[in-house]
Amino acid sequence: MRRVLEHDLQQLITEGQNDGELLTFFRTRVKVGYISIEDQMLYAEDDYRPYVLGQRDNTLSHVLVLPTTFAERRFIHEYDRINFQYSHGRIVVPPLDTFTSIWMGIRLAHELKHARDEFYGIEEYDDGGNVSIREYGLGELRANNLEMRLIDRATNGRFAQELQRLDIQLPSPDSGFPDRTCFIGTIELFSPLDSLFPPALSQAESRARGGAYTLAVNFLIVERLGLGLEGRLAVHRSVFESSQ
Ligand SMILES: [Zn+2]
Repeated sequence: MRRVLEHDLQQLITEGQNDGELLTFFRTRVKVGYISIEDQMLYAEDDYRPYVLGQRDNTLSHVLVLPTTFAERRFIHEYDRINFQYSHGRIVVPPLDTFTSIWMGIRLAHELKHARDEFYGIEEYDDGGNVSIREYGLGELRANNLEMRLIDRATNGRFAQELQRLDIQLPSPDSGFPDRTCFIGTIELFSPLDSLFPPALSQAESRARGGAYTLAVNFLIVERLGLGLEGRLAVHRSVFESSQ
């Protein structure tokens, strides 16, 4: 599993180049683990050090990427709803065979970015040990910027070209964009973007791809309206809220 995930990343990220540090982070910090259903523990693949599910690993030296046998899948489904996520030193990825390699790599890189940021203390914490809404938003922007770069690299720049060509009407000033509303695209609108990639292997992958395209379009509108960083933060929140 580890080798497969490393391959997924390697086709997008080259060591020593822009974002290459993330590949090193994966190689040196990430341990790929699995779940034992019987005792509800996480185990790292190589040293079998057990973790109790949900327990925080303060050292963050073990970011566990969770696995994928059929039986485990049912269990993870209940526990984490099999979605990509990062939380307190633990990355969850959906079953390997439900995502194309390229999108597994893109989404894994996104979560790795969060893990790396937390590991290096990039985000500021308040006295309660939590990140503020703004810090959280900035972290998401960093992860999404990375995601957009990787998407563009994976398509040799064609994603950005197709994005610019989409027929998008700019929202009117009284529409509430970007604070209260965002642009919601359709499958038809996104099809020039989606056809740059192999067909999605699952509903979950289609949803993840649709989410990335929605963000890309909304960031483009923010750029065209000249709304800058605050606009990007606001529209990210609006997109997130509209998907709930
Ligand atoms: Zn994120």
